[in-house]
Parts: sequence; C-alpha cells; structure tokens
Amino acid sequence: MRLSHNFTKTRRDAPKDETARNAQLLIRAGYVHKMMAGVYAYLPLGKLVLDNIAQIVREEMNAVGGQEVQMTVLQPKELWEKTDRWDDKKVDNWFKTKLANGTEVGVGLSHEEPIVDSLKAFVGSYKDLPITIYQIQSKFRNELRAKSGLLRGREFIMKDMYTFAQTQEEHTKLYEQIAEAYIRIFERLGLGDSTYRTYADGGYFTEKFSDEFQTVSPIGEDTIYVDEKKRIAINKEIYTDENLAKLNFNRADLVEKRGVEVGNIFPLESKYSDALDLYYVDEKGQRQSIIMGCYGIGISRLVGMIAEHFADDNGLVWPASIAPAEVHLVALGTDAEIVAAADDLYHELTAAGHEVIYDDRDVQAGLKFADADLMGMPLRITVSKKTLAEGSVEFKARTEEETRMVKLADVITAL
Ligand code: ATP
Ligand code: MG
Repeated sequence: MRLSHNFTKTRRDAPKDETARNAQLLIRAGYVHKMMAGVYAYLPLGKLVLDNIAQIVREEMNAVGGQEVQMTVLQPKELWEKTDRWDDKKVDNWFKTKLANGTEVGVGLSHEEPIVDSLKAFVGSYKDLPITIYQIQSKFRNELRAKSGLLRGREFIMKDMYTFAQTQEEHTKLYEQIAEAYIRIFERLGLGDSTYRTYADGGYFTEKFSDEFQTVSPIGEDTIYVDEKKRIAINKEIYTDENLAKLNFNRADLVEKRGVEVGNIFPLESKYSDALDLYYVDEKGQRQSIIMGCYGIGISRLVGMIAEHFADDNGLVWPASIAPAEVHLVALGTDAEIVAAADDLYHELTAAGHEVIYDDRDVQAGLKFADADLMGMPLRITVSKKTLAEGSVEFKARTEEETRMVKLADVITAL
C-alpha cells in the first residue's frame, strides 16, 4: 500500500466527542471512522486488522471442525417468541423494525434461534451429530451506553459458534476443545499472557458456569479474581465461598483485577433445541434432546482492545500477527536516487511476500516518522541519502528506541 494512494490521512487530534482512547487512536491513525456513538466504519487499515483477527479466529474454528456460514441479520419474530426472547421485557437490547406490510422483524443480536431453525431441515438422526457451525458477522444491540469506543458497539462484529451434541459427554468434549482453541487464539493475538479463562454466570437455565475469556486491563468493565499460577480466574458476579469451593479456588491465591471480556462460551443444555423442536433419534429409535453450546468472540472489540492494550505515547503498536503490514517503509526526501531505491525495495519486499506500507508522500521527514509511530507497524525501514551513502537502509522496531543499519542486499534475510 502506497500512502500517496491511500485516501485516509492521519490527524493530530481525535474528535472532541470521542472519549475512548482506543477509538481516539484508531481515528487519528485513519483506521476507523466514527458514524455515531457505538458505530464505527472500518477504513482500509482498520479493515486489514479486522480481517487479520477474523482470519486467526477462522483458522482455529476450522481446526476444531467448525463449518462457516453466514446467517441473516433480519429475524422473524415468531422464532424468538418460541424461546421467549422476543419481548423487550425479556431481552431489552433488541433493535426491531417493521416490513412494508407491517410484519415485525428483529435485527440480529445473537443467532441461537435461527441456527437451530435452519438445522431442522438436516438433522434427525444420531448419524447427523455432532455438528459445529460458526459465523463471523455484524451484530446489533441497543446498548444503553456506548462510551468505550470499539469495545462496546451498538453495531459490532462477533464470531459466534454453536455446537450440537448427542450427549453431555460429547458436548463436554467439544466444549473443552473449543476452550483450548480460544487459548490458542488469544496467544496468536499477542494476548496470551494477559487473558484468563474465567468462570462466570451460566445463565438462569443451567447449574453450570459459563467461561469468559477476560483480558486483564485497566479499561476493563468487569472485576475478576485471578489465580496467576493456575492461569484461571473467577468473575466477581459469582465470587462466593460456595463457588470458590466448588471450583477449587484458594482465596489466598486470588488477585483482584479489571478485565475486558473478549470471549464467552456457554453450555446451553437443550434449552433452545427443545424449544424449537430440534431432536434426534438415537440408535434404539428413541427421540432425544440435542445438547448445545455457544461460543462468542468479540472480533471488533478485539481491534479496540489490542489497540489500547499495546499503544504507547506515540501511537498504535500492533502485534505482528495482526498488523496491517509487517513493514512501514519510509522514503526520506524526493531525490530521484532515493525514490528509485525505495521503489525498488518496495517491489522487492512485496514480491518476496512481505506486506508493506510505503510512505512515498512528498511530506516532511518529521511527519513521516510521527505517522509511522502513530500507525504502529512492527518495523520501520528508512531509505535516505545518508543510508544510501552506505548502501544501506535503517531498521527500527516500533517497540525499541535503537536503530540499526542493514545493507540493501541483506534486507530480505534480515526480515
Ligand atoms: P458484555 O457483558 O460485555 O455486554 P455480553 O456478555 O453481552 O458482553 P456475549 O453475548 O457473551 O456478550 O457476546 C460474545 C462476545 O461478543 C463478548 O464476549 C464480547 O467480546 C463481544 N461483545 C458483546 N457485546 C459487544 C458490544 N456491544 N460491542 C462489541 N463487542 C461485544
Ligand atoms: Mg458474555
């Protein structure tokens, strides 16, 4: 990507009405555009980060047997009445609208009901199970407050997965495999050290707990108690003597922290499948309930979370696994010799499969360096008169102060 070609520009100041640091930085660096509170558009750089996160999640969901679908945003009221989740008194954050003929429809805030409904055409026998289905899609929730930037959107992107099992045993196996996949996802996103599997409330219809994945951060809205040695935690919501004992926590080992809920997985028992009349027939010809689980990850929340988590005073700092590009190439000056060398290097790097943001703009050196910091690629490579005099370029890691010279011929190997 040539910055001279990119339609977005960096800005010195964030809009006055934006109070969340993640959104301030992302807006200043040209990653997102704020449409209104809790509603953000992704510009080219932001879209790259979003897609990189989604791709890591997709790979790990495919690895545990997930089949990707895309469900609809528009939802029929009748389906949600069957599970008693249509009424605003039961679920208070629905966006609802009407068709031209007056029929009420909902705007998808979760997809248990429609997924179960769509399976009715295909599932009848024990031979059809287990099934694991997921999607990565926009969700809409009429959140009361939306002051945390991308962390709490009214429109946001979630990965939601659903499992359908014959027995509790089969369900638990799937559930644990997926919990392990979640751990791998957060490791790959650079959040492995700071993210804890956290016991939380399981909902009113099950005795079991749900598992949240909480990233320890001062901006977290949740209070959690962390056992750093065992690498697990418990949400304050369920922090009682009884639960501590049940879950084998030792009170003395727990430290109170703030956490951002980046994921949440739930055992659903057969609440939704029974209510929507999805059953299977076992080997003996008996009708049986289907045991479900659901598994969410806040893809767009992660964009904001990671932005804010790693940022420093100069701007964004992306983990290499999700950065829009690996290299931020800066051409310092507009002399033909410099432009030619930087162009050549840009082509050489991209041909070798490296993603590069190339600052080929005719602007001041100070602005180029400040923008490189603000945008947050892991490595800055500078081509200038001075470096070319030595047949070299300058390498600077985003997280380090020092720079080093690398011979032009050695750049690819150095990467
Ligand atoms: P919260 O407690 O933060 O409101 P939730 O428990 O309602 O979230 P779930 O229904 O469990 O959320 O959704 C799964 C995941 O989707 C959450 O773990 C979170 O990462 C993400 N998520 C939920 N609500 C939002 C939102 N309004 N904006 C961005 N991401 C969200
Ligand atoms: Mg949750």
